[in-house]
This record gives sequence, C-alpha cells and structure tokens, in this order.
Amino acid sequence: MNIFSKLKDFILWLVLTKKCKYCNTLITKNEDLCADCKEDLPQISGEKCTFCGAGKDRCNCKKHRMDFDGITSPFYYENGIKQGLQLLKFNNKSHLANIFAEDMAKCVKEDFNDIDFDFICYVPFSPFQTTERNYNQSELLAEEMSKRLEIPVKNALVKLFDVKTQHDMAIMQRKGNVHGIYDVKDGFSVKGKTVLLVDDIMTTGETLNNCALIMKIRGAEKVYCVTAALTVKEKKK
Ligand SMILES: [Zn+2]
Ligand SMILES: [Zn+2]
Repeated sequence: MNIFSKLKDFILWLVLTKKCKYCNTLITKNEDLCADCKEDLPQISGEKCTFCGAGKDRCNCKKHRMDFDGITSPFYYENGIKQGLQLLKFNNKSHLANIFAEDMAKCVKEDFNDIDFDFICYVPFSPFQTTERNYNQSELLAEEMSKRLEIPVKNALVKLFDVKTQHDMAIMQRKGNVHGIYDVKDGFSVKGKTVLLVDDIMTTGETLNNCALIMKIRGAEKVYCVTAALTVKEKKK
C-alpha cells in the first residue's frame, strides 16, 4: 500500500467511519453495503439443491450423496462474501460472525423449518492446530446462531489429527485410526440425536461429510449442515 492510498483510506475513515457489513470496505454512513456487495452479493436464491446447497441453476453435484442429510447456506463463496469470511478467519474480525450468523439462521428457519434440532455443534480445531487467533470461527458462528435459533451449542466433536499430507494420513492409519480425522468427544452421546452442524465454508464437502459420518457411526439420527458460504464447481459448457 503506497502513501497515497494510505492517505486516501485515512481521509475516508475520518469522513465515513462506517464499513460494509459483509466485506468491511469503508462506506458512507447512510448505507449498509458497499457498491460491490450491493451489485454483486452472491446470494443463493430460489430453489436449492438438497444435496449440495447450491441454487438449482448452479448445482453441478449430480445428486452425489453425502453422509449428512441436507445443507443450507446463504451465500456462494465469492466477491465480498469471500473477502468477509477471510477477514473472519484470518484477521481477527470476529464481529463478522454476528453478521453471517444472522443470514445462516434465516436459512435454517426457511429450509429446515420442520426439523427439531437437539443441539448445534461445529467443526473443531485440533488441539495441535496452532493459529495466531484464539478463536475458531465455526464455533463463533455456532454460538451466534444458537442465540437466534434458541438451540443449545454443544462441544460435541474433536479433531484427532491434522491431516495435510499423505504422510500424515499414513501415520494416522498406523495408529489404528479407522474412523478418520474427527470423532465424537469422549463421554458425549449423540445417540438418537438430530444435529445441526456448523462450519464457515463448504468447499468439497469432505470435512462436513467426515463429521457427519462419525456422528452417524456413533448413533446420531440425522445430521444437517449450515455454512456461511459454499463453493460450487462450474458447470462444463
Ligand atoms: Zn461489501
Ligand atoms: Zn446439487
């Protein structure tokens, strides 16, 4: 950032002192969203695919079955939403959890309105995961959603391994882990429960799938997922 853009930002900050609620860009006081978000907010609208959560117009999942029973999400992981979620994840902008949880809660009320959830849980960090932040963005989202949906949050899951490479995977298997990267916490029962699982972003769906599968193995009745945003594979033309 050069001196002129710094100066420009400073003047804007003095005059405007408000930020776009999703992407944190400075805006004028009487607005809610920046021009980009206003014009191109990647909202998932219309009828959604129950398998991948994308709008039917953009779904390209070929009805590939996941181990969870459904997913809903307010946004595609694009434009200002991508920027906002990166800020939440990497830049200590934890207040954004509040903003995204509002939209996520709305989706749950609309798309899962006939489902009686026993509790909300979230994709955990592993105890070895070292981050500069002292929070897990998915936990923050879960807690904010809990207030809006009046469903309790439970710290139900544990991440056993940080699997980043094939080598990590080999170590994991050598240690006799057959179920995978995640497990239900010792002493916690999911038997017969209907669970709402929260994460910030769904990319391939593998993480949510792993968490849902282990909860099903441990006896959960149903696992539904909600994320702030999701990515979709572009349709081949
Ligand atoms: Zn914006
Ligand atoms: Zn789909």
